[in-house]
Amino acid sequence: MADYPPFIPDDNHRGTDPRLAGGRLTIDLDALIANYRLLQEKALPARVAGVVKANAYGLGLEPVARALLAAGCDTFFVAMPAEGVALRRVAPDAHIFILSGPMGIDAPAVFAENRLLPVINSPLDLSIWEAYGWDDDAVSRPCALHVDTGMNRLGLTPEEAASFARDNELTGAITPLIVMSHLACGDTTGHLLNRQQLEAFQAVSQHFPQSQKSLANSGGTFLGTDFAFDLVRPGIAVYGGNAQDVTANPMQPVVTAEARIIQLRQAAAGETISYGAAETLKRDTIIAIAAVGYADGYHRAGSGAGVPVRDVVKPGAHGFLHGHRVPVMGRVTMDLTMFDVTDLGVHGVATGDHIELFGPNIALDEAAGTAGTISYELLTSLGRRYYRHYVGGQA
Ligand SMILES: *Cc1c(COP(=O)(O)O)cnc(C)c1O
Repeated sequence: MADYPPFIPDDNHRGTDPRLAGGRLTIDLDALIANYRLLQEKALPARVAGVVKANAYGLGLEPVARALLAAGCDTFFVAMPAEGVALRRVAPDAHIFILSGPMGIDAPAVFAENRLLPVINSPLDLSIWEAYGWDDDAVSRPCALHVDTGMNRLGLTPEEAASFARDNELTGAITPLIVMSHLACGDTTGHLLNRQQLEAFQAVSQHFPQSQKSLANSGGTFLGTDFAFDLVRPGIAVYGGNAQDVTANPMQPVVTAEARIIQLRQAAAGETISYGAAETLKRDTIIAIAAVGYADGYHRAGSGAGVPVRDVVKPGAHGFLHGHRVPVMGRVTMDLTMFDVTDLGVHGVATGDHIELFGPNIALDEAAGTAGTISYELLTSLGRRYYRHYVGGQA
């Protein structure tokens, strides 16, 4: 523990004092930068934006944004205006786009003050931005224009976008710096919708010769250079998640989540473990009690037994300790999770050891999958009780 930096109480992205925390997250900003660069190679000659919504997928907006800036990233996407305000403090000169749009007529003052750029998602957003947006010397009402090509979430229809382009050509009221769309199935190579969305996007793009074009998220970045256009917007792949659902993950793990063992106990075959007595020990067992639970985002659905998801997804989650995969036993509880460490023997494990929950040995996607969810949800659920330890990041 001696090599950890001192605890700074108001430095909130560090989380809890390591001596007082049950879990620790090690966030490898060098791996994050390596992932960013790999995506850059894939996307060339397109540029790579940083998608840092939801506190950079739970990893910490500030340190992640600083690392991406150091790697040369100059364009960012966040979901909410409040996230944009926080990012502006770290990235004084970057383009910051707000995916959820101008958020009604009360927010634009904040957009102007912080030079935030809304993603315009509807005709209503267009009129709000035209009436209340900001200008500078070179551009009036700068923004991104989002066209829906098959996701049916946010975005103008292609017809609305074309009609806006015709009107705007006359008035020049709004400057769409970027025209973008979002793939529904980017993680599934060969899904028919990818090609349909690509063609719809190419068609609507023709109305906007002056704007940069952007279609691909992480998955889309691996679908081929047709999908890259001028700017790609990968989130999960930068954070080490697998962007494609079948192929081996080319990204480096960025986050290592570990739980401190606070007690070891021995129990006899035939006894039960955890709430609901849902798992019965098949052998005399050494149980490690680790101080991370579902309140830390280690999902209850990853339990070793006794939750409905186990009927569909087998087996439960595993941790990794001293070279061994160790299964979760019984139900994950709020603050604590039990692991079967019998194979390590009584001398092979000690209280104070840390069990890896995911990281270099247990893939993020595996840990998510055993809880019936996806890497995105696992990362964005990580709670505030961890000690957060950042390494590298100078690019
Ligand atoms: C979140 C998001 C992304 C990034 O998606 P990943 O699948 O994490 O790469 C890109 N574009 C939009 C519009 C998004 O909402």
